[in-house]
Amino acid sequence: MHPVSSALLSWYDCNARVLPWRGIHDSYRTWVSEAMLQQTRVETVLPYYSRFLSCFPTLAALAEAEESEVLKQWEGLGYYSRARNLLAGARQVMRDFGGNLPPDPARLQEISGIGPYMAGAIASIAFDIPVPAVDGNVIRVISRLYNINEDASRPSVRRGIESIAAELVPPDRPGDHNQAMMDLGAGICVPGTPDCCRCPLSAFCKAFSAGNAADLPVLPKSRPQKLISWTVLIIRSGNRVLLRRRTEKLLQGLWCFPMIEGCFSPENAPAAVCRSLGIMTRNPCAHGKARHVFTHQIWDMSLISLSSENDTPVPEGCEWIPVTDIEKIALPSAMNAAVRALDDCMRNSVISR
Ligand code: SF4
Repeated sequence: MHPVSSALLSWYDCNARVLPWRGIHDSYRTWVSEAMLQQTRVETVLPYYSRFLSCFPTLAALAEAEESEVLKQWEGLGYYSRARNLLAGARQVMRDFGGNLPPDPARLQEISGIGPYMAGAIASIAFDIPVPAVDGNVIRVISRLYNINEDASRPSVRRGIESIAAELVPPDRPGDHNQAMMDLGAGICVPGTPDCCRCPLSAFCKAFSAGNAADLPVLPKSRPQKLISWTVLIIRSGNRVLLRRRTEKLLQGLWCFPMIEGCFSPENAPAAVCRSLGIMTRNPCAHGKARHVFTHQIWDMSLISLSSENDTPVPEGCEWIPVTDIEKIALPSAMNAAVRALDDCMRNSVISR
């Protein structure tokens, strides 16, 4: 066993985080946990993981689910393409793989939503195959351990890091090794200032010796997020509210309140609604502003409620949904402020009756 892995595993044996997806050999559960953990903190994932598995306890149960049910269980976790890929992947496994995830990392990557990192994680954790699982954490740890001062996003540098990662994986306990790397990257060898004094690998770490660990890995500057102004329309007709199921890539398949690009005042909102949705509305009322930050976009939202007549036609792509059904359907957390505004409208209309 490589001395780095030996030191890492000794540390892991005493410091491993106790997590519900650890200590089991169940490829479906590993898959669900890894899908949820992409871009998301462990603490956030924990309640979603247990709820998701009580709804879809097996791969077969997930494969039979409706997309709307799966998105509902994912509501608030973000990056919804992960949920859609998981569902598509489960159906593919039932159809093409006899209902079982294959242990071979190359075959795992044939499945929807499973890339090289996740294939490595599933193969090593669930099937004890000695392959690495290289994500941002591992790139950071290895860049520092070996003092790699080149742009880690360049394919040749990335391949070098992957080959070092592969050399470090021990033939026994590959899953524990990969999970120990994840824990080290998440808790000690963190972005910015690493906690080298607590690190079990400091004796091997070239960047620690050179004093430049905080500067690594070298990565290109990320592009600033695009700021978009929206007017979010909370349009009620009696006890129903107008919602639109998104077809755009971002938040695809989730329900949102209709939105018009730009910031409209309540006075201008009915005319803007008429132009964009083709329906007549009245009683515009402002409900403040909200902001939601995505990876590549920031939504600056002005919230406006309006009312319309009972016989108002349904604008294309929208549906009138009973307000009481809102909690049964999947709305992204970007819509949380609008849902609260809708609650206020409903409360006020009860009070004024
Ligand atoms: Fe990371 Fe510091 Fe450990 Fe090196 S010594 S691996 S920089 S935490």
